[in-house]
Amino acid sequence: MVISSPGLQNHQGDEQKDLEATYNIVEIFHSVQGEGFRAGIPHVFIRFGRCNLRCEWCDTDFDTFTEMTGKEILDAVLQYPTKNVVFTGGEPMLNDLWALNRLLKSRDYHLSIESNGTIEIPENLIDWICISPKDQMYPNSILRQQTGDELKCVYVGQPLEMYDEIKSGFVHKYLQPCYHEGESVEWNGRNFAQTEQIVKENPEWRLSLQTHKWMGIL
Ligand code: SF4
Repeated sequence: MVISSPGLQNHQGDEQKDLEATYNIVEIFHSVQGEGFRAGIPHVFIRFGRCNLRCEWCDTDFDTFTEMTGKEILDAVLQYPTKNVVFTGGEPMLNDLWALNRLLKSRDYHLSIESNGTIEIPENLIDWICISPKDQMYPNSILRQQTGDELKCVYVGQPLEMYDEIKSGFVHKYLQPCYHEGESVEWNGRNFAQTEQIVKENPEWRLSLQTHKWMGIL
């Protein structure tokens, strides 16, 4: 399913309106980025409710959320020392993120996003774009955001040729083994070994591991 971007809206605004904007939020938490290029950097994670896809390995309950205002979100972010924020989900681009952009950029935050790429991301909305396409699961989904800082693909044995047309739009390219907490150590181990092998055979890709899961942190 593809939904047109609510983000392609006027990015002028006044702070009071931005503080009153509302978002469906699953959780806001402070942690260390565990995967991809920015692994190891402390961030505040803002997890938005709702997604337009339903991946079988998804470990997020994005259907349980509460409505929060821009002010409540800002207050939650401000209590932590880091100046790095990640918009994640669910699919964060189902929201008009300009109000949060203005509230956070005016306070010198660096904004990252983790998106499935089915919704185009407006220019200057986000500082660091990580796209994790799900077309190995949804061959008919359209990848509308074809540029960014990271392309991060969950590897389940799909042919890498499927990324030939888009990979040049991304600075860093990662393959990440599919890790399923409900599966056995052997099942997950096979995925790790298979992904390591495919990266060795295709060195333009790098291995991304979800180190936060091993560490038992969020
Ligand atoms: S796109 Fe991401 S958030 Fe949505 S169902 Fe798939 S893994 Fe979960």
